[in-house]
Amino acid sequence: MSVQSTPIVKDLVLVGGGHSHVEVIRRFAMRPLPGVRLTVVARDVHTTYSGMLPGLVAGHYSFDDTHIDLGPLVHRAGGRLYHDNAIAIDPEAKTVSCLNRPPISYDLLSLDIGSSQDTSVQGAAEFAIQVKPVSNFTLRWAEAEKRILASTTPQRVGFVGGGAGSIELLFAIRHRLLKLTAYANRKDIKLSFQLITASDRLLPGYNKRVQKKFEQLLRSAGVELNLCERVVKVQEGLVVSESGKSIDLDHLFWVTEASAPAWLNETGLKLNANGFILVRDTLQSVSHPNIFASGDIAAVVEYPRPKSGVFAVRQGPPLKENLCRSITGQPLRSFKPQRQSLSLISIGDRYAIGSRGPFTLGGRWVWRWKDWIDRRFMKKYRELPEMLSAATTETPIYSADITQHDLQTDPMRCGGCGSKIGDNVLRAALGTLKQRSYNDVIIGLDEPDDAAVIKSKPGTVLVQTVDSFRAFIDDPYVFGQISANHCLSDIFAMGATPQTALAIVTLPLASPKVMRNDLVQLMSGAIEVFDAVDTAVVGGHTNEGQELALGFAVNGYIDYELLKRKGGAQAGDRLILTKPLGTGVLFAGAMRGRAQSRWIEAALHAMRQSNAPAAQCIREHASNALTDVTGFGLFGHLLEMLRSTNNTATVALDRVALFDGARSLADEGILSSLQSTNLEIEGSIDASSIEQDNSIYSLCFDPQTSGGLLAAVPEPNAEACVSKLRELGYAQTADIGSVNHSSNTPSEMIIMLS
Ligand SMILES: Cc1cc2nc3c(=O)[nH]c(=O)nc-3n(C[C@H](O)[C@H](O)[C@H](O)COP(=O)(O)OP(=O)(O)OC[C@H]3O[C@@H](n4cnc5c(N)ncnc54)[C@H](O)[C@@H]3O)c2cc1C
Repeated sequence: MSVQSTPIVKDLVLVGGGHSHVEVIRRFAMRPLPGVRLTVVARDVHTTYSGMLPGLVAGHYSFDDTHIDLGPLVHRAGGRLYHDNAIAIDPEAKTVSCLNRPPISYDLLSLDIGSSQDTSVQGAAEFAIQVKPVSNFTLRWAEAEKRILASTTPQRVGFVGGGAGSIELLFAIRHRLLKLTAYANRKDIKLSFQLITASDRLLPGYNKRVQKKFEQLLRSAGVELNLCERVVKVQEGLVVSESGKSIDLDHLFWVTEASAPAWLNETGLKLNANGFILVRDTLQSVSHPNIFASGDIAAVVEYPRPKSGVFAVRQGPPLKENLCRSITGQPLRSFKPQRQSLSLISIGDRYAIGSRGPFTLGGRWVWRWKDWIDRRFMKKYRELPEMLSAATTETPIYSADITQHDLQTDPMRCGGCGSKIGDNVLRAALGTLKQRSYNDVIIGLDEPDDAAVIKSKPGTVLVQTVDSFRAFIDDPYVFGQISANHCLSDIFAMGATPQTALAIVTLPLASPKVMRNDLVQLMSGAIEVFDAVDTAVVGGHTNEGQELALGFAVNGYIDYELLKRKGGAQAGDRLILTKPLGTGVLFAGAMRGRAQSRWIEAALHAMRQSNAPAAQCIREHASNALTDVTGFGLFGHLLEMLRSTNNTATVALDRVALFDGARSLADEGILSSLQSTNLEIEGSIDASSIEQDNSIYSLCFDPQTSGGLLAAVPEPNAEACVSKLRELGYAQTADIGSVNHSSNTPSEMIIMLS
């Protein structure tokens, strides 16, 4: 979580992590603009570098070679990364709507969302594999590859599109398949390739020599060329062209011209005839001055250019400059793109052909040159230069709409009333929040009073818990969801049903509008989680502080006889753990820019998974003890479980599930700051059977946020309980060991390892 010393007064929202935006973010990392908050909304947290995509398909590069990880990049820029898909823009309200969260407010918006293929041809969307979005493409290509290698009949592979993308992909896929069939000794698999294009020549827009060269190369590779064939229908195993020709195919790749998403039509933004956003040479929308666009999705009125990653990359620096100029009220600068660009097309086997205007060259050295250029480009986003701190950049000159009130620069700003935030901010945020109504709540958030009033449940006992922590991620909505889940877990672990919750919020100082927006995102995420388990948020307290923090006091109820304590484990019970370990290490790694976004995404997914169904399932399998694994780590909570029983436990370290990336970060020596405190119980653990630097052992002390449940279940029920939990979606649930009679072991050792 980034801490800004200057109050946030402007929200700059970047939608899409495309080729221009990665450069904008990198430049913000080097030179931030104080008071401006960067929020990046990205459907994919790893941006594919288009120049290396064919090399990834051909097998020359790995995923990490070819993808820019937005997580560390945005973190370095002090921004927030929202992993979500934008689906609408309301320029009047200045909001972006996404699939999975409340609308996001912006002062300035920039779109670099790329393009996809035009699949308006009947059957294309259903039966063909589109190359964009690349994340879908890679999954579908992996399936196709598997089917081809398992086949016993000839395999016909077709490509619709005659541009550079289609040809490069064809060569890459052909290269990969020939190599794999040779490795697998499956030369019996007969492969054939077809290229189908509406145009009368390949590579429209390229010089004649390049066009001819590629025609020869394709023909000599045995590829059947179908020129002047406009595909009008696609069926399973078949494409039909306008001329009436039909071609049988087992696998079809769709790499036609770029198209824009239909949702842009509803935004009110001025678009060209093909649906792309019309922008000036300043990259500013012709219709909406506070919206910018770049890359494939933009159509520059003054300088039309082909859709290409090269142009998107080049627009990055002027886009950053004009976004900053727009915020600070300075005149924008025009950007004239070059007319021609160097095109380097690889043909599968580390051989490439380059052209620029009338010039053409080819060879293995051209591929090596392209490889050098591409790797140098990627390095820029991996090895980030040091940030020029906001303090060393020039004092911002904000545009005229920023008031002294927005800047909140009052030197006498006191911490009176517990630094409570303004009533106007609170009222506006609460008015926006949507929560179900609850019969038990007599006075709650909808009609706030000095305190909430709740009906009690006769015949039950009240179960109460409180927890609060600082934000460890920059997305307030997801943080709200995780915090709510975390705070509910204690109630579920006791076997109780939650009824109400009170929030404790700390918001960093910002303009009232920014604070209101943050509060709405934060509480919307939390309320969604509480609503899912029929729990009313009935009130809370919000104050100003340096860092975003959130906690809840949760009340629940239960019949006293049904109460589950953590201390009932019986000798012979099996120990069941429902979620992997490693959240502490992963977020310590993220703070240092060392954790990959896909590791973080997997952990966030598990942290948002409620423990309620797991607790219910464990109870149904007659558990003797149950607790949730949080700040003390697995061993700390296991020790708590055992202490009141005089029993010991044996844990099989190799059965303990870990989040991806946790082990490699721990091996690097990256550990949570709570680790050393958690290690203080080491005297109770007999680790004589394992090697000293065993990182799984060290991760058993890792503090967990919204961790899983740890249960002691009678041995005869354990296997069924584990399979049921996995069925319920706790895929990495494991039986990690057993509870033993203490008389078998030295008295001070409570946990043995195997
Ligand atoms: C096989 C192939 C090879 C190519 N090779 C080259 C090449 O060598 N050189 C070259 O210059 N060009 C190449 N291109 C063209 C190139 O891919 C595009 O021109 C380039 O990717 C455009 O960059 P962009 O920044 O506009 O968008 P993209 O790179 O497509 O990035 C857009 C990003 O926005 C995100 N996004 C999309 N929609 C949303 C949404 N609604 N909300 C949030 N996020 C969203 C996506 O996750 C994506 O990461 C190739 C194309 C293909 C198909």
